[in-house]
Amino acid sequence: INQGWQQEYPDEWLSFGNPWELQRPEVIYHVHFGGGIEHVDDKGRDRAIWHPAETVQAIAYDTPIVGWRGQHVNALRLWSARSPDPLKLDAFNKGDYVSASAEQSRAEAICKFLYPNDESPAGRELRLRQEYFFVSASLQDLVNRHLTSDGQLRSLAMKVAVQLNDTHPSLAVTELMRILVDLHNFRWDEAWKITVATLSYTNHTLLPEALETWPVELFERLLPRHLEIIYRINVQHLALAEARAPGDIDFRASVSLIDERSGRRVRMGQLAFVGSHRINGVSAMHSDLMRETVFHDLNHLYPGRITNKTNGITFRRWLMLANPKLTDLLRETCGEAVLDEPTQLSLIEARASDVEFQKKFRSVKLHNKTALARLIGERLGIKVDPTALFDVQIKRIHEYKRQLLNIIETVALYQAMKDDPNGNWVPRVKIFAGKAAASYRYAKLIIKLVNDVAEVVNNDPSIGGKLKVVFLPDYNVSLAEVIIPAADLSEQISTAGMEASGTGNMKLSLNGALTIGTLDGANIEIRDHVGAENIAIFGMEAGDVMIRRKQGLDASDVIRNSPKLQRAINAIGTGEFSPGDPGRFESIAHALRYLDHYMVSADFDSYYEAQRSVDARWQVAPAWTRASILNVARMAWFSSDRTIREYAEEIWNVPVNPTTPLLPDLRDVAG
Ligand SMILES: *Cc1c(COP(=O)(O)O)cnc(C)c1O
Repeated sequence: INQGWQQEYPDEWLSFGNPWELQRPEVIYHVHFGGGIEHVDDKGRDRAIWHPAETVQAIAYDTPIVGWRGQHVNALRLWSARSPDPLKLDAFNKGDYVSASAEQSRAEAICKFLYPNDESPAGRELRLRQEYFFVSASLQDLVNRHLTSDGQLRSLAMKVAVQLNDTHPSLAVTELMRILVDLHNFRWDEAWKITVATLSYTNHTLLPEALETWPVELFERLLPRHLEIIYRINVQHLALAEARAPGDIDFRASVSLIDERSGRRVRMGQLAFVGSHRINGVSAMHSDLMRETVFHDLNHLYPGRITNKTNGITFRRWLMLANPKLTDLLRETCGEAVLDEPTQLSLIEARASDVEFQKKFRSVKLHNKTALARLIGERLGIKVDPTALFDVQIKRIHEYKRQLLNIIETVALYQAMKDDPNGNWVPRVKIFAGKAAASYRYAKLIIKLVNDVAEVVNNDPSIGGKLKVVFLPDYNVSLAEVIIPAADLSEQISTAGMEASGTGNMKLSLNGALTIGTLDGANIEIRDHVGAENIAIFGMEAGDVMIRRKQGLDASDVIRNSPKLQRAINAIGTGEFSPGDPGRFESIAHALRYLDHYMVSADFDSYYEAQRSVDARWQVAPAWTRASILNVARMAWFSSDRTIREYAEEIWNVPVNPTTPLLPDLRDVAG
């Protein structure tokens, strides 16, 4: 953060080498791009020979990943790209060093930058090259290893599961078909059965801007054979659509793998859906919305494929590693088995009102808050009181996550405090952290607003230090591990219907923070588990949001009826927090008054009220502590072990042996 603005720097994660990984120089695959296709007429097998224009080598690097309690080690296999002929001797012989090294740079660019998120055609092309590079290397490797162990590919789906993590590896559908049909001589129909039985797809968002599409023209130039395969899949797929809804052109257009509306584009979400035997959302509400909205027609065509797998979090990191003091208290209270079996957490329920237990529980939280207060002092020079309410919103900065709602409430609270400096205010520290995508201008302006508000509020002696605003730079997992154990209040305030699941919500609740949140994503299931009395729910529901958007209402009605909101927006819009540049936040004030697409203005009063009930609750320490303990006690279901067990049993067809002892005898392991 430079003068309150986000600034990006490269993350040179390999500049000092990586001692955990092993290069596997013997594991090399060739990944091709461009060129032309030769069709082989062999009894309708649809086989083709690809004559590529360019070839890049993929070299494997393995990182051993030790399982919990060290009974198994898996390899996380990553790929590095290089030019197959780095010295290009013929070019060098002619003295053409420039074009020889240009080819090498082009190959190495594939794994030099993380998917650039910009609109320039060159950046877009690099991203598609990256997606294909990683898909192709991984699938070639997987098929190779299966052939080595099984001697045939017919059994692939019985031994292998490929989980497409979002649409970025959707090309796997076409690449596996290419490998089976073109390289291993399978008949199209059999190859298709194997492909669909092997692949499954997890959808992570319904935001239209995040559903990938690629221009057909770019696809054709880079991956000509894959485009043919997509067309061939689309023929059978659209025939099925025609059989299901004869003559319904709109239905066919909506399920087609090609979007014909604004220039022809390949739809990667549709491709992943059609090529998978199971498609899952990441919370109950998100999976329902998939069936009702984006994938409504595909669900009709392939009923029963959509299933839900609510996300989870690893308790090894988010409890045992991040919060050793709480872990010790839980071991002491629930027994050692709690480390292996999170359902044992419920044993603390009986102690939730116990004065002695509450005292120990509170002292753990105070210890963690003191550590965070020290970090804030060191990094920002801001002094915060560890006994104040630590109100935490840490997540990527995005309009739908509504950091803006939180900072406007902060402004309104600050104004109320100034009006009544001797009021019985609950001391609060508003803690923000998160990054905006480099090209997301508006999100970066929100970061600047938080920092500008912090500058004014933190230096106003008239409120007696009762309110502090902190924006911690460079949010990442390591910083999250310090903030989460210190949180009292967890802000999960996305516009209802827009957060697929959230996992930060789970981490914070597991560490004893109470949630203030909307009925969105996994917040709904968190409420169901912790109990409605132990969470503060506010705001519009997903259905309300859809209706209000359809009505096309602007926010002038709600602003007229909310003096607090009006005053806060005015202060921001007229430069009270940016006196040197009074117009800086005019665009934000304008968006809040008129479009209000994310319902920040529409939800403000409800949020402000919910925050004041949180204040009232905080003032009764035993009741607050009891609710905090019950949050921890009731989070077992959100362990990622539960999530992965569901994927194994219901998607990958991997039987999970229920008799496997959860707490292995360590002597057996040593033996
Ligand atoms: C858990 C986590 C997230 C996800 O947070 P949400 O609140 O669910 O958006 C993002 N970044 C980091 C570093 C995390 O640890």
